[in-house]
Amino acid sequence: MNPIFAQTSTSVFETMSRMARQFDAVNLGQGFPDDPGPLDVRRQAADAVVNGWNQYPPMMGIPELRQAIARHYKRFHHLDLDWETEVMVTSGATEALAGALLALIEPGDEVVLFQPMYDAYLPLVKRAGGIPRFVTLRPPHWGIDEAQLKAVFNAKTKVVLLNHPLNPSGSVFSPADLDLLASYIVQHDAILVCDEVWEHVLFYNVEFRPTLTIPSLRRKTLKIGSAGKIFSLTGWKVGFVCAAPEILKVVAKAHQYITFTTPPNLQAAVAYGLDKSDDYFTGMRRDFQEAQDRFADGLTKLGFHVIPSNATYFLNVDLTKGRFAGMDDNAFAKLLVEEARVASIPVSAFYAEDAVTSVVRFCFAKKFETLDEALRRIKQLC
Ligand code: PMP
Ligand code: GLN
Repeated sequence: MNPIFAQTSTSVFETMSRMARQFDAVNLGQGFPDDPGPLDVRRQAADAVVNGWNQYPPMMGIPELRQAIARHYKRFHHLDLDWETEVMVTSGATEALAGALLALIEPGDEVVLFQPMYDAYLPLVKRAGGIPRFVTLRPPHWGIDEAQLKAVFNAKTKVVLLNHPLNPSGSVFSPADLDLLASYIVQHDAILVCDEVWEHVLFYNVEFRPTLTIPSLRRKTLKIGSAGKIFSLTGWKVGFVCAAPEILKVVAKAHQYITFTTPPNLQAAVAYGLDKSDDYFTGMRRDFQEAQDRFADGLTKLGFHVIPSNATYFLNVDLTKGRFAGMDDNAFAKLLVEEARVASIPVSAFYAEDAVTSVVRFCFAKKFETLDEALRRIKQLC
């Protein structure tokens, strides 16, 4: 067996969801909304299944979706993407990540990773033969420290893998942090793989700037997106990559041997959805923000120290202060699921070394009843 997978533990999301089922807990661990997702988008998919094409679609994705992706980023970020040479559909952001890392990394290349990092990153980087170099981000600001960039970038740096906005912190990198990072990427002639799946799930009027819009990174960045997050349909696994033709054509070679393609009916529905009016996107943010405010207020009233979230479905509780101060995140998450029957995610699971062990993540993308029930159970434990 390959030790990278043989020695990797089951994903923290699966582990916590299993525990949630075992203890009949309210599951605020793995990030998925209670809401079934926009009905019109789901109807489009159903119609495409019944009346549409159900055989292999083109390897790069159906033209309607690739065109819709290009239009979408023109509308939101004034990006000019050539849908034929700069846009490819993948089976979720996860496949896009796997394809990008396999296509870009040669054994022995160094890859800069920012921890906390999404759980798939490290095994995929290692399996592609990359040598991970970590930059550690810390609460409450989760900003980039230049001394760490200086320490990890060198002549062997090939790829930088960034998640922006960042899961699990719920933070958005500042323009100053992105410009700083861009200068290191350009100086070391590296390629940025930027996982922007949370690009639309933003709060408190925070500005999100895709890294592809930074002029010096336009030809050095591969942007990854996911319809799962844009439409709160996490099980759909329709993702995409946007990059300059010279990068995309190589990543397409990896994609053709991983999944080759993605269900055509779901692609058709996502193409329809990306053209939805601005009201859909602002409405989604407003609803999630209300849920976040309600849950954060409830936790604050119970004496927890909440780190507010500017993006994603997640907020964090800081265990260095307030209720249960001093408890380690794993112990707290275990206590919470076993005794209060509320599942969360210990954030130390997102670190490979030198972990922050005082932060626990909660998914607030839930109905008010679900959040209120979780608060009631946590109150009893308190
Ligand atoms: N990257 C990040 C940062 C994520 O949070 C997720 C899932 N929530 C993914 C990738 C996976 O996206 P997909 O389901 O489209 O594969
Ligand atoms: N991205 C989701 C989260 O952060 C989980 C995805 C998964 O279960 N692999 O909760």
